[in-house]
Amino acid sequence: RKLGYAIVGLGYYGLETILPQFVNCEHSRVTALVSGDRTKALGAAAKYDVPERSIYTYADFDRIRDNPDVDIVYVCLPNSMHADYTIRAAKAGKHVMCEKPMAISVAECEAMIRACKAASKKLMIGYRCHFEPFNLEAMRLAKSGAAGKIRYVRSEHGFVQRDPDKWRLKRAMAGGGSLMDMGIYSLQAARYMTGEEPIAVTARESTDRRDPRFREVEDMIEWTLEFPSGAIAGCQSMYSANQNHILLMGDKGRVELEPATRYDGNKMWTGRDGRETTITSPPPGPGKTQFAGQLDHLAECILDGREPIVSGEEGLRDMRIVEAIYRSVREGRTVKL
Ligand code: NAD
Repeated sequence: RKLGYAIVGLGYYGLETILPQFVNCEHSRVTALVSGDRTKALGAAAKYDVPERSIYTYADFDRIRDNPDVDIVYVCLPNSMHADYTIRAAKAGKHVMCEKPMAISVAECEAMIRACKAASKKLMIGYRCHFEPFNLEAMRLAKSGAAGKIRYVRSEHGFVQRDPDKWRLKRAMAGGGSLMDMGIYSLQAARYMTGEEPIAVTARESTDRRDPRFREVEDMIEWTLEFPSGAIAGCQSMYSANQNHILLMGDKGRVELEPATRYDGNKMWTGRDGRETTITSPPPGPGKTQFAGQLDHLAECILDGREPIVSGEEGLRDMRIVEAIYRSVREGRTVKL
C-alpha cells in the first residue's frame, strides 16, 4: 500500500518541489495539505487530488490525528517551526519527515527525537543528497578506496540571497544565516564523503553588517573540520555568491562534483594516477529522482520496521556541529567536539 503524506507549508519547497514528485513514487502519495492560504490550498488540492476535507490550517493542524489517510507529516516550514510541528505531528500519532536544518538548536532536535520515540513514530530529515545518484556514487567511491586514503574534503554551497525581508534572513525564524541553509550541505558532504565524525572545528565569519540583508544573520562562514583519521575538511557557505561544490582528495586520486547537490544537472569527475574521467550522466542509481527516493525511503522504513538512513539522530549530529561552528566564531578558537 502507498502511505499518505500531509504536506505542511505550501511554499517553494512544499508546493513547487515536493508535491510534483509523488507521481514518481511507488510507496507514497499525498493525502492532506496544511496551509494558511485557503485559495492556494484549494488549488493544490484540486491539482493533486487531495479531498477538501483533508485541507488543514495551522490553527486546526492537530485535528490531523483523526485522519486515517495520513501516515506521515512532511514539515516544509521555516526552520524555527520545525520542532513545534514535528512534536505536534508525533503527538497526533504520525510519522515525520522534517526539512533541513532539522531545527534551530540542539535542544530542539533532542526534544523532537524524544517526542517521536515516545509516540513510537519514525523521524527522518529531508537530506535528499543521500538519494541522489551522483552523491551516492561519490560516497561509494570514497568508501571503496577509489581515491586511496582520504586526506581532504572541500565543500562550498551558496546562493545570492536578494530579498532582505525573507524569513531566511531573520534570526528568530532561520536560526542563523547561510550556515543554517546552504552550509548544511557542505557539512553533510564533509561527513558523508569521509564517513567519519569530526573531532574539532575552527571557524570564521565574514559579513558586511551595513548590508540590509545581513543585519541579523551571517553571510559567509568558513570552517575546518578535523577527523580522527587525520583527514581535514574545509567547508564554506555564503549568501552572496552562487556555488555548489564537493571535492574529495585521497592519496591516489580524487572525486569531484560541481554542481554537486542541485535538484538536477549535477556533474562528477574522478581521477586516479593523473588520469581523469568526466561522468556527465547520472551513474546507475536508485532509478528514481532523489525526491521520490527520499519520500519512498521513509514509507518503506515504516512498512518494514527499519530506521531511516537519515534519521533525527543524523540531524542532531549536524546541529551539534553547527552550534560548535558558531561557538568557534564567537570565541575565536578551535572547539573540540
Ligand atoms: P518558503 O518561504 O518558500 O515557504 C515557507 C512556507 O511556510 C510558506 O508557505 C509560508 O506561508 C509558510 N509559513 C507558515 N508560517 C509562516 C511564518 N510564520 N513565516 C513565514 N512563513 C510561514 O520557504 P521554503 O524554501 O519552502 O523552505 C521551507 C523549508 O524547506 C526550510 O526549512 C528550508 O530549509 C527547506 N528547504 C529544503 C530544500 C531542500 O533541497 N531540501 C530546498 C528548499 C527549502
